[in-house]
Amino acid sequence: MTKKIGSWLLYVVLLAAVVLMAFNFDVVRHWLAIHTGTVNESGPYYGFWSGFGSDLGEATLIGAVSVGVYTGARKVNCHTKGCWRIGHHPLEGTPYHLCKHHHPDVPTTGASLEHILEQHKKFKDAQLDPREASPS
Ligand SMILES: [Zn+2]
Repeated sequence: MTKKIGSWLLYVVLLAAVVLMAFNFDVVRHWLAIHTGTVNESGPYYGFWSGFGSDLGEATLIGAVSVGVYTGARKVNCHTKGCWRIGHHPLEGTPYHLCKHHHPDVPTTGASLEHILEQHKKFKDAQLDPREASPS
């Protein structure tokens, strides 16, 4: 439950960062324009660059950032179509990574530490060389 909230929070924070960056960029650009004297300068293209042209550049920036965030999200999220959870668990024998909700071997309910350690011990025992294994 807490993990689920955690990944949603990550998306919200990412989105907030993109929005914040877009707004801050505008503020920084305006500050830069004032302090470099660009604002009082006029030329044949001034109208274009301060009007539609600047919007175009901003739109491109926001677009590029969005694509970057989207690509990054696609890389780490679950490969199940339409699933936006983080896909941490590789599915053996396939190139896919799945979230714990879609992976068949990852329990969706919390496992106790004893249960996890027991599974780890089983794995270690299975990996032991038969010649080194103690006779029983
Ligand atoms: Zn999934």
